[in-house]
Amino acid sequence: MGIFEDLYIKMRGGVCKIGDKTSKILNISKIKIEMAEKKNLIFEKYKLIGKYVYDMYENQESFEFEDIMDWLEEIKKLRLGIKDCEKRLHCAQNKLFCPYCNYKNESNAVFCSKCGKKISFACSNACSNTCSKCEQEDKQENESKSSDNSKSSGASGKNNSEEN
Ligand SMILES: [Zn+2]
Repeated sequence: MGIFEDLYIKMRGGVCKIGDKTSKILNISKIKIEMAEKKNLIFEKYKLIGKYVYDMYENQESFEFEDIMDWLEEIKKLRLGIKDCEKRLHCAQNKLFCPYCNYKNESNAVFCSKCGKKISFACSNACSNTCSKCEQEDKQENESKSSDNSKSSGASGKNNSEEN
C-alpha cells in the first residue's frame, strides 16, 4: 500500500521514469514466474513418467518410448519455453548502452535519453526488446562470419579515416 501511494505521488509529480522502472520490474518478475511454472510442469511430467516406468517394472511389462511420447514431447516444449524465458529475462534485465555517447538507457529505450540518437536495435535473440548485450553478441557472431560490414553501427561518432 505504502509503496504504491509513494509511487503515485512521485508519478503525479512528473517523475515518469518511475513508471518505466516499475513496469520493467513487473516484466522481469512475470518472466520469472512463467519460468517457475514451466519448471513445475516439467517436474510433474517427470513424476508421471517415473510412476509409469516403475509400474511397468513392477508388473514386469515392457514399455516403449511411444507409450510416454506425449509427456516427452510436452517436456521438450516446456524446456524450449524456459530457454526462451531465459533469453527474455536476459534482455529485460540488460541496460541498453548508447553506442554514440555510452549513456546507460533503459533496455526498452528507442532513443538515447542523453543525446537523442536512435539506439533501438531489434534484439535477434528471440525477444521484441532491444538489448545492447545481445546486439554485441550478434555483432561478434557476425564479425566471425564477415569482418567488413559489422563496424558500421558501432563507431559512428568518429571518422576512422585520418586525413592530414
Ligand atoms: Zn546517446
